[in-house]
Amino acid sequence: MAEREQQQQQRLAKKTVRDVPTAGRTVLVRCDFNVPLQDGRVEDDTRIRAHIPTIEYLIAQRARIVLCSHLGRPKGRTANLSLRPIAAVLQDLLQRPVQFCPDTIGPRARRAADALLPGGILLLENTRFYPEEEHNDPAFARALAALADLYVDDAFSAAHRAHASTAGVAAFLPAVAGLLMEQEIHQLSRLLTPERPFVAIVGGAKVSDKLGVLEGLLQRVDKLLIGGGMANTFLAAMGHQLGASLVETAHLHAATAVIAKAKERNVRLMLPVDLVVADYFLAEPDRRTVDVGQVPPDWIAMDIGPITAERFATALQDSRTIFWNGPLGVAEWPNFANGTLHVARAIAECKAFSVVGGGDSIAALNRLGLAGRIGHISTGGGASLEFLEGKQLPGIAALADR
Ligand code: ADP
Ligand code: MG
Repeated sequence: MAEREQQQQQRLAKKTVRDVPTAGRTVLVRCDFNVPLQDGRVEDDTRIRAHIPTIEYLIAQRARIVLCSHLGRPKGRTANLSLRPIAAVLQDLLQRPVQFCPDTIGPRARRAADALLPGGILLLENTRFYPEEEHNDPAFARALAALADLYVDDAFSAAHRAHASTAGVAAFLPAVAGLLMEQEIHQLSRLLTPERPFVAIVGGAKVSDKLGVLEGLLQRVDKLLIGGGMANTFLAAMGHQLGASLVETAHLHAATAVIAKAKERNVRLMLPVDLVVADYFLAEPDRRTVDVGQVPPDWIAMDIGPITAERFATALQDSRTIFWNGPLGVAEWPNFANGTLHVARAIAECKAFSVVGGGDSIAALNRLGLAGRIGHISTGGGASLEFLEGKQLPGIAALADR
């Protein structure tokens, strides 16, 4: 086991942008600028800021910088999914000009890349305006590669997708990790060979989204705490009545299998013992706290109860490594955010190395003002889960080994 994990770590020893000369070279940097846009305005620039270290490093190296990214799910060219607004945000963050090219490949992109001065920055149009991107079309990947001398992949959060700009392009250019990619691989790798005890907390809406990661985590954790909507399916599998709660009846057998596997591997699996329930799925419904066996017919489990929250917090206390994904209740609504708040505080107060992934979990941390007290906040939702499953991510596999 230890040997296998060591091999896994070695496989992750990828070259980074620091390992290769970049001065004067034209560098194609794959970013994830998939930000929320409203009427052409960037609503949250977190994802853009995450790439600034790599871009500033390349500026300092006097590289010629060509940035690309996907945005949303366009069907061909879609005006409101243009990357043009991102160029303006980058310009503000970097305090220097950022050229925008309305194409991703072809003669116009080529001319714009060729016109770059050392330290200059060009942003290409949305890679997904071309259906070839998601088909990982070799001709498209080759055309993208033709713009540069080196490929730097900084888009960890897109690394679980084998697309032309995240993987295919590496067949035509030397390929290395950007600084964000390096940081994500480094920090998430610490969960593959964790300091013990290692405790994982998994919540969120659906078991079906996260079965793979639950199985992966069972290989490594000492305790697995399950809350949120996904706990309902486990409780139902154990024979509890859950009223009108979200239960994935198609996955009851999968939940039973996870419970059995936890027992077999000597993992302490903790499920809610009490629940906050509501008469309607609303922000301000009638609500009460009940034991797991006492959910009234037609009522809905919305949050873990206070006894569960306290037990979860206690279970975290002696841990050395923590992974958290998925809110423990409908945390967008303050009435059902207490479980998430309690556990988030316990993570923040614990000395363990902690990693949090998942858009809604990070949003909850930000609302609670606790983000600064977490060891690593992963920018990759799906990618970080697949990484923890132990899967090879195509975007990482494509990079040159050290
Ligand atoms: P993340 O984005 O952190 O990976 P998910 O997207 O898996 O998390 O899950 C977050 C969603 O789960 C939130 O919208 C939250 O309201 C919902 N959720 C949590 N608990 C429940 C519950 N008991 N019933 C219904 N939805 C829930
Ligand atoms: Mg989510």
